[in-house]
Amino acid sequence: MTTMTSADIVAVGSGHNGLVAAAYLAAAGKKVLVLERNAWFGGGVVTRELTLPGFRHDQHSMSHIFIQANPLLKNDELKLKSRYGLDYIFPDVPMMSVFEDGRTLKLYRDRERSAAEIAKFSRRDAEAFRRMSLQAAAWLPMMAATLYAPPAPVGATHALFDSSREGRELWRVMQMSSHDLLCELFEHEWVRMHFARVAGENLVSPDEKATAIGAYVFLGFLEGCGFGVARGGAGILTDALIACIHDHGGEVIGNSEVARIKVANGRAAGVETVDGRSFAAKDAVIGAIHPHLLGSMIDGMDARARAAAEATHITPAACITVHAALAEPLKFRTRDPVDAVMVEMLPASYEILRRDFDELRYDQFMPYPLLGLGSLSQFDPSRVPPGKAILHLWDYVPYRRPDGRSWDETKQQYADRMLAHLSKFVANIPDCLLKAHIDSPVDMERTSPSFRRGDLHGIANATYQSGAHRPTPDLGGYTVPGLERFYLVGPFQYPGGGVFGAGRATAMTMFEALGMDFEKQGRVK
Ligand SMILES: Cc1cc2nc3c(=O)[nH]c(=O)nc-3n(C[C@H](O)[C@H](O)[C@H](O)COP(=O)(O)OP(=O)(O)OC[C@H]3O[C@@H](n4cnc5c(N)ncnc54)[C@H](O)[C@@H]3O)c2cc1C
Repeated sequence: MTTMTSADIVAVGSGHNGLVAAAYLAAAGKKVLVLERNAWFGGGVVTRELTLPGFRHDQHSMSHIFIQANPLLKNDELKLKSRYGLDYIFPDVPMMSVFEDGRTLKLYRDRERSAAEIAKFSRRDAEAFRRMSLQAAAWLPMMAATLYAPPAPVGATHALFDSSREGRELWRVMQMSSHDLLCELFEHEWVRMHFARVAGENLVSPDEKATAIGAYVFLGFLEGCGFGVARGGAGILTDALIACIHDHGGEVIGNSEVARIKVANGRAAGVETVDGRSFAAKDAVIGAIHPHLLGSMIDGMDARARAAAEATHITPAACITVHAALAEPLKFRTRDPVDAVMVEMLPASYEILRRDFDELRYDQFMPYPLLGLGSLSQFDPSRVPPGKAILHLWDYVPYRRPDGRSWDETKQQYADRMLAHLSKFVANIPDCLLKAHIDSPVDMERTSPSFRRGDLHGIANATYQSGAHRPTPDLGGYTVPGLERFYLVGPFQYPGGGVFGAGRATAMTMFEALGMDFEKQGRVK
């Protein structure tokens, strides 16, 4: 609880994006108040003892990839690393696939080591990988330059692409499906499948058009930045942001669900909580509010903007996760060391993976579970009691079950299926399980309304919901038409789902509207 009833800036939601935006404003001298509906903070960036005391689980995001190139961390603009306790470990192997027959394929941060892995399957593909990796490295600076600031208009971006040979090649790749690209590049179906799984991590089928660029973005970041494992847990990022806000006189309070944005003379003037408390915002309100919910929280929202927001599409690939406390580290059946941040358990044929995603389109279960896992205690033992380990296991399912049963009633059964499948790859499952916590897609949206229908990116990653048109052309600039001094954050905004620290771009928009200089004032001195 707080005694504050007014602030310069009131932020709805303590997800990392809201906290990032609020922290930049606090650093610039604004009095900020962040209101969170949960009793805990961080939304998708949270570490909690979900199973047993001493076992710290990253309930949602576990690996912080895209935020690494953000000037927020790269230049330590808010001193999260040098003053507020944020520290990342960058393992050599960010991602690997384990196939059912025990063979493995690792992607190292080092291009040549990855090429040697791919050469186990095809020498020609190893050569193609080198070209892909060089292209990804060449595109990375350009991509990184656009991800942490407000998006450029879609038309101007297309015109720019069209003005050079390289731009046109990038634009061609951006329109292809991952599958089209991977068939163009690689001959071995397991190499294709390994990279196709990356599209799956973005909750899309490799056959979805306009997903191919994801493989280059992923590889560029994997090699250029690494997959960050926060020492102590992903939630340390949240803790560092909150420490920064506190240090600058701000407050972050829990158990405060905002029901309504108060509007006075076309301007956001504050918020009202579901339990009737009212907070005035002198300068602005920041809202982590899903486009489907925005209209119900803003009285008199522009009708066309509201209808478009409510029509935004959600992926059919909802996420289900199992967090487990383990008596000992996982013992994979393969003889190769399994030492990656993200480990993908893959079937014997690529067609199985492609058909799995087709089933989800029809709201059916995937016949072959597409399990991914992280056991980050192997890199950061501080998360578990000595000798013990943790498991973060995920799979994709329809939000509405085809048998009509509720997820609350059936999630244990589904988790048992996941663990049974995992035991084909891991010898000490289920014996080493001490206790498990399961988040169904319904639990996911209960923990944060951003993860609506279990879509961990808020809304689908489709071209028509991308760039300055994410989530809609009306809302793409982090503002709502007809409402001044209200600014949006969330995975449903540009650049999209994932831990990007995209609240920086929202802060830049706010600094401009408030007549402040982001480069000079938006820094912790
Ligand atoms: C299972 C899972 C695994 C993931 N893994 C990764 C990963 O490894 N790497 C990665 O980069 N990304 C990952 N993601 C995605 C990533 O977690 C999200 O994209 C990111 O956390 C979104 O941050 P945000 O601040 O925009 O929104 P959120 O984290 O959703 O924060 C929004 C906050 O606002 C609060 N809120 C909303 N409405 C109100 C209201 N009316 N009143 C008060 N409070 C409110 C919510 O409770 C929440 O705390 C994962 C997501 C999930 C679900």
